[in-house]
Amino acid sequence: MSEELKRRPAFVVAVDGPSGSGKSSVSRGIATMFGFRYLDTGAMYRAVAWWLLRNDVDVNDAHAVVSRLPEIEIENGTDPLRPFIAVNGTDVSREIREQFVTSAVSAVSAVPEVRAAMVQAQRAEVIAARDDQAGIVVEGRDIGTSVLPDADLKIFLTADNAARAARRAAQDNDEGRHAEVAQTAADLAARDAADSSRTASPLVQAHDAIEIDATALGFDEVVAEVERLVRDGLGQ
Ligand code: C5P
Repeated sequence: MSEELKRRPAFVVAVDGPSGSGKSSVSRGIATMFGFRYLDTGAMYRAVAWWLLRNDVDVNDAHAVVSRLPEIEIENGTDPLRPFIAVNGTDVSREIREQFVTSAVSAVSAVPEVRAAMVQAQRAEVIAARDDQAGIVVEGRDIGTSVLPDADLKIFLTADNAARAARRAAQDNDEGRHAEVAQTAADLAARDAADSSRTASPLVQAHDAIEIDATALGFDEVVAEVERLVRDGLGQ
């Protein structure tokens, strides 16, 4: 490791925003550019939902969800070039993007005990990155407000509903999941409403987050803006 890398403090970036705003692509791009780790916290909630559904647990029954929580062990692969998520040793990176998981995840993520367990695991990933003197980009809904209120940089990435639905439907189709824009728009609106109105750590912009509206920006423009902010933060 170079002297410069050894001296560089571990830099923590929180990226929050609604579904389909481009958080994942931008977060991975930035993590790759700076040699940081990448943590997709949405994937963790999806993995919990996947396991519960696979084990016939009613995701709308919070007591049932909480009673099965100790059986679920999640492993995060935080290399931004090869991110993965495994549940009890099974890689579920593809399965968690399926519609049956997407429809169930907001009910699961609204359960306070689920959030407490995920937040603890998320902070452990950040501590591990800091111990290794690596930076990390953590992407989610409540990272800047609740999980990492002391993050070095907080981004709130938004885009209007039409832009988000178009982006998400194109991404689903690219990855082989058939998606109509109108249906995707309705799904995103329902999920955002649930995520924003829940009692436990709802999706809100942190007061000290920098908002980037990606509606009229291309991916490269958003990455360039975040890159500038990270460089500022690192004093480069
Ligand atoms: O980011 P993604 O769309 O994969 O997130 C899936 C779901 O996980 C969200 O709709 C939300 O219910 C939940 N989530 C959350 N807190 C986070 C990240 C995701 O509640 N930090």
